[in-house]
Amino acid sequence: MKIIKSVADLRDERMKQTHKTIGFVPTMGYLHEGHISLLEKAKMECDWVVLSIFVNPLQFGPNEDFTLYPCDEARDLAIAKKIGIDLVFVPGVEEMYPEESLTRVNVRQVTERLCGAKRPGHFDGVATVVTKLFHMVQPDRAYFGMKDVQQVAVITQMVKDLHFPTTIVPCPTIREADGLAKSSRNVYLNQVERVQATILHQSLTEVEQRVRTGALQTASEMVTYVTEKIKSQPLAHIDYVEALTYPRFETFHQWEQEDILLAVAVFFGRTRLIDNHLIRFKGGETYV
Ligand code: AMP
Repeated sequence: MKIIKSVADLRDERMKQTHKTIGFVPTMGYLHEGHISLLEKAKMECDWVVLSIFVNPLQFGPNEDFTLYPCDEARDLAIAKKIGIDLVFVPGVEEMYPEESLTRVNVRQVTERLCGAKRPGHFDGVATVVTKLFHMVQPDRAYFGMKDVQQVAVITQMVKDLHFPTTIVPCPTIREADGLAKSSRNVYLNQVERVQATILHQSLTEVEQRVRTGALQTASEMVTYVTEKIKSQPLAHIDYVEALTYPRFETFHQWEQEDILLAVAVFFGRTRLIDNHLIRFKGGETYV
């Protein structure tokens, strides 16, 4: 397994891999089973797999947890090696942003709701760094988790609009036994918060049951149901709860047999957790 820190070395290694299918999994490290599922899928589907580990300052707001983001490079590299990853790219901030960068990639519309509304500039930071990484790695296939469903939508739209020769592969959310979505940020939760955080997945899946029986019919009933449930946990502070059409992320009133995305962002102390649940009426992957 090659461990590469510079863009020049990455390009050299990539040049040697002509006629291979290149898989790419961009991450911010502190790997868990969610990341591992992406890496294993890439490994199954591609000849040469690149993992990047880079905590991207551009996608963090001024009061967010950039400086506190958990990190354990030695552990991450051991995990990557065990999976059989071919190259790990671990650039420093100076390597990715050697001087002030005046360019931002901005994807409109799909960034207007949910985390895009709550974290101004976040998706510009994501789209910009993914563009840079795609130029460096030149992947045929890139793997993203549906836990970050809006990120998948943004990158899919960007790749289409800008004619990147890369297929975006959305992958299911991997969860703890009690339903909490795996996240690098879960380590910040204390024991009580960790227990209360199970309400996210629990309330979202309960909505699906109630929509299917007709007990909940409007977007506002769905949002109210989830909001009340989450508020029953004293340490939870809601950032947003939304019910939108999928995949366009549009507001709806009365549910009319279209696919619905339920999405939440909730603070426990300073830790912000996100989760979502897709209610499919037309078939297709559920990614639960
Ligand atoms: P991050 O390191 O948080 O930027 O995540 C890197 C990639 O892993 C992104 O595509 C995430 O959507 C994906 N990911 C994070 N958590 C999970 C999870 N629980 N299940 C599946 N994919 C995940």
